[in-house]
Amino acid sequence: GVLVQAASALPVLGSARSDAGSAAPSSVTAACEQVLAGAAQVALAATDEATAGSDLSGLGTEVRIEGDELVVHGGKRWVTNAGGAEYLLVLGRHRPGRHFTNFSWALVPAKSAGVTVSTATSGLLANSATAHVGFDSVRLPADHLVGRTGRGMAVFARHMSTERLAGAQWAVALTGRVLADTRERLLRRTAEGEPLWHNAVVRQGFAECLVRVAQLRALCDSLAESAVKGQSLSAGTLLKSAVGLTVDTVLAQCARLQGADGFAAGGAQGIRAEAGVLGIGGGVTELMLAGVADMSDQLLAELRS
Ligand SMILES: Cc1cc2nc3c(=O)[nH]c(=O)nc-3n(C[C@H](O)[C@H](O)[C@H](O)COP(=O)(O)OP(=O)(O)OC[C@H]3O[C@@H](n4cnc5c(N)ncnc54)[C@H](O)[C@@H]3O)c2cc1C
Repeated sequence: GVLVQAASALPVLGSARSDAGSAAPSSVTAACEQVLAGAAQVALAATDEATAGSDLSGLGTEVRIEGDELVVHGGKRWVTNAGGAEYLLVLGRHRPGRHFTNFSWALVPAKSAGVTVSTATSGLLANSATAHVGFDSVRLPADHLVGRTGRGMAVFARHMSTERLAGAQWAVALTGRVLADTRERLLRRTAEGEPLWHNAVVRQGFAECLVRVAQLRALCDSLAESAVKGQSLSAGTLLKSAVGLTVDTVLAQCARLQGADGFAAGGAQGIRAEAGVLGIGGGVTELMLAGVADMSDQLLAELRS
């Protein structure tokens, strides 16, 4: 909930101000200030009910300008915070087709007529207030358009790397904590009078995980500046791919090393299942790897420089 709002939704909202300066619409500026002050929450609604989440430019939700009004119609799925947020930042299309200039952001107050919010039923991530949202020809003053018409995808792409860096840093913190807990347990747990930690196979499996997390941490450190300041898409894609390849492998091994205790409430098996979102939310790992392959010319040149 914190990650999507702080690293994605707020930067997109804020970009309307930096794009338009003092001409930024007052409703968008006011919402941004409320969220920054902690007085309101904003959810980022991109994943669309009309197509697979991996097919962002196939989304169906419309954001149309009709006179001095904005009309939002369609639906979004699996939106973090949507169950409690005062505002929904909605990515929609203002004309048909997949061209990247066909999309815009709209700021929809959650209490607007025509908005329906239904909790996403799940046994996981109970406190994330993840919900599905419907927009039935929701009419708003035109100043609820965030940024200029047709700049939706460009603005999203510009800020994606920030969320991907924050996600990678979260992944390092989470896997580091679970590794530390696992090591403690292995030191305490004895078999044939010896701590399991002294077993060579256990140590090797644990060490492999530690190396993977150290590599992810090193990647975060080396790409942080270009991900945030340079808003480099390749840095974000590399980081999110690395998260997808690291987190599940490490947490699965930790969960195994905790034996039956891994199944306890709040245990490593549950953490692993919830952390699966790091390889899905904001872009599935396969899509990230396809991006790495697409950018391989540039990435190989960077390796040689
Ligand atoms: C807990 C949670 C919170 C979320 N929060 C938000 C949010 O705040 N805002 C928001 O907009 N969305 C949110 N999402 C949605 C998330 O971004 C999407 O789930 C994600 O983009 C993937 O879309 P999808 O689920 O439709 O999977 P699909 O696109 O249907 O993909 C399903 C599977 O198909 C395979 N696949 C898909 N594409 C490819 C490809 N190109 N190559 C190879 N294999 C592929 C992968 O194995 C993938 O996991 C959230 C999701 C979850 C689970």
